[in-house]
Amino acid sequence: MCGIVAYIGQRDVVPVIMKGLHRLEYRGYDSAGLAIHGPSGLEVYKRRGKVSELEDWVQDKNISSHIGIGHTRWATHGEPNDVNAHPHLSPDGKIAVVHNGIIENYESLRRHLLAKGYTFRSETDTEVLAVLIADFQKEHGFDLERAVRMALHRVVGAYLVAVLSTDEPNTLVVARKGSPGVIGIGDDEFLVASDATPIIEYTKRVVYLNEDELAVISDKGLTLKNLKNEQRSPEIEQLDLELTAIEKEGYPHFMLKEIYEQPKTVRDCLRGRLRANEATIKLGGIREYAEHLNRAERVVFLACGTSWHAGIVASYLFEDLCHIPATSDYASEFRYRNPVIREGDVVLVISQSGETADTLKAIDMVKERGGIVLGICNVVGSSISRETHEGVYTHSGPEIGVASTKAFTGQLAVLTLIALKLASERSTLSAMRLNQLLRDLDQVPQKIEEVLTQNDHIKAIAEQYAKVKNMLFMGRGAQFPIALEGALKLKEISYIHAEGYPSGEMKHGPIALVEEATPSLFLCFKDGNYEKVFSNIQEVKARKGKVIVIGEQGDAELEEISDAFIGVPAIDPVLMPMVSVVALQLFAYHMGVLNGRNVDQPRNLAKSVTVE
Ligand code: GLU
Repeated sequence: MCGIVAYIGQRDVVPVIMKGLHRLEYRGYDSAGLAIHGPSGLEVYKRRGKVSELEDWVQDKNISSHIGIGHTRWATHGEPNDVNAHPHLSPDGKIAVVHNGIIENYESLRRHLLAKGYTFRSETDTEVLAVLIADFQKEHGFDLERAVRMALHRVVGAYLVAVLSTDEPNTLVVARKGSPGVIGIGDDEFLVASDATPIIEYTKRVVYLNEDELAVISDKGLTLKNLKNEQRSPEIEQLDLELTAIEKEGYPHFMLKEIYEQPKTVRDCLRGRLRANEATIKLGGIREYAEHLNRAERVVFLACGTSWHAGIVASYLFEDLCHIPATSDYASEFRYRNPVIREGDVVLVISQSGETADTLKAIDMVKERGGIVLGICNVVGSSISRETHEGVYTHSGPEIGVASTKAFTGQLAVLTLIALKLASERSTLSAMRLNQLLRDLDQVPQKIEEVLTQNDHIKAIAEQYAKVKNMLFMGRGAQFPIALEGALKLKEISYIHAEGYPSGEMKHGPIALVEEATPSLFLCFKDGNYEKVFSNIQEVKARKGKVIVIGEQGDAELEEISDAFIGVPAIDPVLMPMVSVVALQLFAYHMGVLNGRNVDQPRNLAKSVTVE
């Protein structure tokens, strides 16, 4: 979580940092700050609240510099207030630090430093790092690079850090472990950021920091070293990202823009991979391990949040289409159990950002136990794409709204491609059925377009239900994880309490919640579960519960029994999750907006969950 941006070069650093922090605000937004080298040493400006508040406040101060570090926080240690905001200064004012991640052993480091007579101002874990670096400088006379390296040797945890020192006003030191960092290389200028978005308008030439790596950037250039002080020559990569991809382009919110992008993003995801006419699927990302997957006796999906829902849909698809036992697990649960991974098991990890800390740790665990790990993620070059054996990108483009939408349909598209490819390799589907599914998959972007034309109707339904306090979301089969996703979307961005359930479970508990003020939303399609879900709807109606139904367009009977009905175009049930979820995204979006929520940056959340 949290966004870091740092700059050294000819420009005035303040607008560069401010703009960068705005771009990174989706990662954390409870407080923000920056430090620059001013005429009389390090100057720190930080405060609780959004980046725009910091910007307004700093505007009158007339500050400028050619070097600085900035931070937008997602608090883990200590509440979001002015003091806990980053950057943190050492007591002597000589070191300024911004940090993304958690220093897990901060208590013992703090005790050690307190015993040496240091004092602390904040409740954060980060401040110990500033003090520790200053202590190494003071005790041993180390230069900044060495002091940071020595301090990091003492640290257990995860970080991207950027550090300035009054002793070396032309030097910026950054280091990473477990949290992403990108260095942009311009003409006589360098930018460092948690992702590439603050960098693209200055340069497209970037270097990704490796794990346990430290970069020293000064007027002499860039040096990369690992924590053992071994140097590596930077591999410069070209960014494949355009500015328009990270702007709202006339939409009121990124979330709405991203919902509307889905016909395109799913098409991009299928492009070059699905050849419906030739009835083939090509997945360039899985080559060497394709045979492992073909022979797998079991497949495990690991993910968190929305990606976990994609994993459940996929587990149903893999069992249904490929006849492979498949389960989906929370990465954060899996890694704290003692899970059985046998040789020949294939684990597929799913993450939008490719930086999800719990998922990354689960990957280590699977690898240690001899499993093969394949990754599905959106961000090219992310940690998950590097840590897994092989994988497939979703190609959904930057997702900035905190609630995931287009990345989810991208994940489903990739997982469906993998399932169909595997079904063909394992001959578990008839050629006719396989070809039909491939042709239908090709139609998914168009079906999503048709759902988007219902936006006004969905908004009108949201207007009717905007003031409810609780909601139930229900579906069966592959629509059950979609019900979970619908409930999660609503919770995340409207703060309305919502529960997702398999509709068959309703009678085992949640039906007790049904009353007029608690509407139930059902996903009900002609997929073999239709009659059963239809009966569940009747059961709710019999108890005076209001019912919103998402079903197939033209289903008069279903429309008749619903209080509100959203008809989506018919498609094979295997592919329906990618279509039906779009109606739920729009519903949640309007519920959020109607309740006056900041749907792009909902409270307490952050986009890229880089803490465990
Ligand atoms: N652990 C640090 C804090 O709570 C950094 C959190 C972040 O990544 O924003 O201040």
